[in-house]
Amino acid sequence: MNPEVLLSRIRVVLCRTSHPGNIGAAARAMKTMGLSSLYLVQPKQFPDPEADTRATGAVDLLQRAIITSSLSEALVGASYVVALSARQRDIGPALGAPRETVARLLSEAERGDVALVFGNETVGLSNEEILHCQAAVTIPTNPDFSSLNLGSAVQVLCYDCRMAAFAERPPHVDAGVTPFSSPAATHDEIEGLYAHLESVMTATGFFNPKQPGRLLPKLRRLFGRARLERDEINILRGVLAATEVRTGHGRKG
Ligand code: SAH
Repeated sequence: MNPEVLLSRIRVVLCRTSHPGNIGAAARAMKTMGLSSLYLVQPKQFPDPEADTRATGAVDLLQRAIITSSLSEALVGASYVVALSARQRDIGPALGAPRETVARLLSEAERGDVALVFGNETVGLSNEEILHCQAAVTIPTNPDFSSLNLGSAVQVLCYDCRMAAFAERPPHVDAGVTPFSSPAATHDEIEGLYAHLESVMTATGFFNPKQPGRLLPKLRRLFGRARLERDEINILRGVLAATEVRTGHGRKG
């Protein structure tokens, strides 16, 4: 596929950014590398003159940026989502290296939209945000000083995306695709499965919301590794619906 088209399918999602200047810097970093799809989840201050100043010639990306009130909303339709995190969390996907993960990201982009998710300048990504992602990446750094400026982190990833998109690549072969395959499930379809699963596990008494433990994060990590397809989501939701009928527990809401 045309590298420019591939790059246009990569969303850069900035969560709860505090400094508008960093949003501008991110837009500039994206445009220099040929990315254009910017999503802002609850930015503290935007639009803002400081964002425009730091974006310089990339103000068009700021004007087209999509502002959402939740990460889920920014990920609607995306079928592969990667978190950027400076440190390993005790929850969420294992941290991978940028290059390998970007290779996977581009191969997923052959089939649809994908996303890179960046955290807030002070606190990074929350555990909840990380659990919306199927993979996580850390940029290798000096272990004593590992946190990059947000705009710099965006630059490093966008550079890797461009290098990978324009590199000589063997014709696209996706080992996961068989004659039985269906399209990759999108973020919203996967969230629908999680909500259904939680409801049935609660109704059957398997899950106690008052003592949640690690059950839900672990299930998210499991399904995140599986790269679910749409048919598979439908099968799992069919099983859940049948369980509801048999146990007499209808779904609430
Ligand atoms: N103090 C925060 C860092 C915030 S930096 C923390 O410890 O998590 C803002 C964002 O830039 C991070 O949420 C992450 O998305 C990205 N970032 C910064 N340094 C990074 C690194 N070394 N690897 C991957 N992402 C990084």
